[in-house]
Amino acid sequence: MAKREELEKLFAQYGFTDFRWLKPKNIRVAQWVRLRCMFGCPAYGLKGTCPPNVPSIEQCREFFSEFDEIAMFHFQKTLADPAERVPWGRETFQGLLNLEREVFLTGYYKAFLVAFGPCDQCEECSGNRVGCKDKKSARPGADALGVDVYATARDVGYPVQVLRDYKETMNRYAFLMIE
Ligand code: SF4
Repeated sequence: MAKREELEKLFAQYGFTDFRWLKPKNIRVAQWVRLRCMFGCPAYGLKGTCPPNVPSIEQCREFFSEFDEIAMFHFQKTLADPAERVPWGRETFQGLLNLEREVFLTGYYKAFLVAFGPCDQCEECSGNRVGCKDKKSARPGADALGVDVYATARDVGYPVQVLRDYKETMNRYAFLMIE
C-alpha cells in the first residue's frame, strides 16, 4: 500500500489524477482483438507499434502477468475539430512517457507504458520496429497488445462506448505497468 501512495503522489505531480489500480487478472486479453487488427483496420501493417510488429497474444498475456501493479489512466475528451486529435494525443502521450521515466527513476525498474492507441509521434510512420524513427519513445497501444479495452474498462466501472464520429466524447485508456 505504501508503494501505491508513493506512486499516486508522482501521478498527481504529472497531472494524472483519474486512474484505477488493477492487477494483471483485470486486464482482459483476447484473441479476437488481434483478429480485428488483422482484418478490418485500414492501418494494419502501417504502424510500427501495431500488429504485425507486436508479440503474439500468448506472449502479451505473459507480459501482463509479469507485474505487481497496473495503473489504468482514464482520459475523457471532446474535440471540436477532428484535426485536434493528433496534437492532443501527442501531448498526452508525452506526459505519460515522462511519468513512466519518473516512475522508473524512482526505482520501479520494470515501469512500462502501454499507450491509449497507435503511436502517432511522426508525420509518417516507418511501419515497422527496426525502422522506427523514435525507438526510445514508441510504445504499443493496449489494443495492439490484444487488450479488450471495453471489457477491461467496464469491469472497473469506467465509461466506454463505440463512437459514431469525432464530435462525440472519447474515453481513452492507458496503462502503466509497475513492479
Ligand atoms: S515513433 Fe514514429 S516511426 Fe516509430 S512507431 Fe511511432 S510514428 Fe512510427
